[in-house]
Amino acid sequence: MKWQGKKQSGNVEDRRAMSSGGKVVAGGGLIGIIILLMNIFGGETGQQLAPILEQFNNTTVQQESGYVLTERDQDLGKMVDVVLTNTEEVWTKIFNENGLEYQKSTLVLFRGEVTSACGKAQSGSGPFYCTGDNKVYMDLDFFEILQTRFGAKEGEFAIAYVIAHEIGHHVQNQLGILQKVNALKRQNTAEGKRMYIAMELQADFYAGLWAHHAKDYLEINEEDIKIALSAASSVGDDNIQKRTQGYVDQESFTHGTSEQRMRWFLKGFRTGDVKAGDTFSQEEL
Ligand SMILES: [Zn+2]
Repeated sequence: MKWQGKKQSGNVEDRRAMSSGGKVVAGGGLIGIIILLMNIFGGETGQQLAPILEQFNNTTVQQESGYVLTERDQDLGKMVDVVLTNTEEVWTKIFNENGLEYQKSTLVLFRGEVTSACGKAQSGSGPFYCTGDNKVYMDLDFFEILQTRFGAKEGEFAIAYVIAHEIGHHVQNQLGILQKVNALKRQNTAEGKRMYIAMELQADFYAGLWAHHAKDYLEINEEDIKIALSAASSVGDDNIQKRTQGYVDQESFTHGTSEQRMRWFLKGFRTGDVKAGDTFSQEEL
């Protein structure tokens, strides 16, 4: 992917230098991972996530001094902006083609800890989309965890994939899908759980769909797609469970298996057709 010098809309709210820089310590590593397991790529709202996280607030160390962004941090911030801007252009076009108007989101970059309209969250929670303020929240340290703990391939395009996945939830929010699925999930039925996974897989499909439309402009190559697939695979429920608890419990799946996540991303990437992403009516997800 070549993002340097490409268009930025400025819809990134950079709070990295403002954050407390609180890091989970004293066994928090494992707790962080467990939280991550429960909320990874939370499309949801963060609403269930916040109370869980707050319990662990006492395990953090607040660093008083402000953080100074390194050159690498600044570069990554620009890349995030370029990718977000491109998702805006792609989705604006798709919405227009369907007689709809796309409302842009804001992406908040933070370090350590953040307060959203959905409550407080820490980097261990993974990136999430909050319906309370329609914003995407990301701590880029998350990607190190993805590589070191969950075996994802290293590469900037992993970040692009996750941005596109979260923006996929923003799209679902505008289409009324998030609300319906969250209501179903609250009933705690098998069907509700299935619909929730379908929603997550659709966000992966949307990420692939975005990559299809961004391919030429951002010069996305085969290696980038491999990196995205590796990231998608690393956050499959089965992979996370194997690596954190040592066994796989299908009943507790929330986001789909590694195979499903890769398959839906690829379907979006290959078809580029928004209508091919109806994960909900599929008998076989
Ligand atoms: Zn998600």
